[in-house]
Amino acid sequence: MKKILLVEDEKGISSIVKAYLEKEGYIVFCAFDGKRAIELFKEENPDLIVLDRMLPLISGEEVLKNIRESSDIPVILLTAKVEEDDRIEGFQLGADDYVTKPFSPKELMERVKAILRRTSADSSNILSFDNGNLLINTENYSCKVDGKDISLTNNEFTILKVLFSKPGKIFTREEIIAIAFGESYEAYDRAIDTHIKNIRQKIESNPRDPKYIKTVYGIGYKAGEFN
Ligand code: CA
Repeated sequence: MKKILLVEDEKGISSIVKAYLEKEGYIVFCAFDGKRAIELFKEENPDLIVLDRMLPLISGEEVLKNIRESSDIPVILLTAKVEEDDRIEGFQLGADDYVTKPFSPKELMERVKAILRRTSADSSNILSFDNGNLLINTENYSCKVDGKDISLTNNEFTILKVLFSKPGKIFTREEIIAIAFGESYEAYDRAIDTHIKNIRQKIESNPRDPKYIKTVYGIGYKAGEFN
């Protein structure tokens, strides 16, 4: 289920929009000021943000700037101002869409759905784990850890993909070889160990205490489980 961060200090508007979003099946986190918005963004890793401009503590613009430093998450800006200049300024700040108050909640729902349709089509080949800290792109065989591009060999990538096809499931070395390279592929079990060691060097912040690829002694390996 998609998670939405709703940042709106007017309690009345917030509760109406929250109810509409929940009716559409989204999980909604509410922040009533800009500081909390940034905290919740980091904690909950939402799929989209509905962000009011005028907020206590930190303004909507500042929240957006802060979030844009690390993320291209879709953001719909809410504003009470109607001038065209503001609309342009909102887009320049990196908002994906812009809704002026007073707005119809139904219209906002349409915008939310349209943006999520667009972005989930773009990201259907990207598997996200550990709150987005590990991204595996199965289309172009690339991988990102903590926002940094990681260069993996084809074999390393394929092994990583096999393990993360079922996080928590234990794969024996023979299974990894069979699934990754095919039954006829001749590889020594220990070759897998070498690949795993190399992958860990690249993706784990502490390869001696790995969180993404766990060793199951006497059996094989498994991908770490994240919620
Ligand atoms: Ca406001």
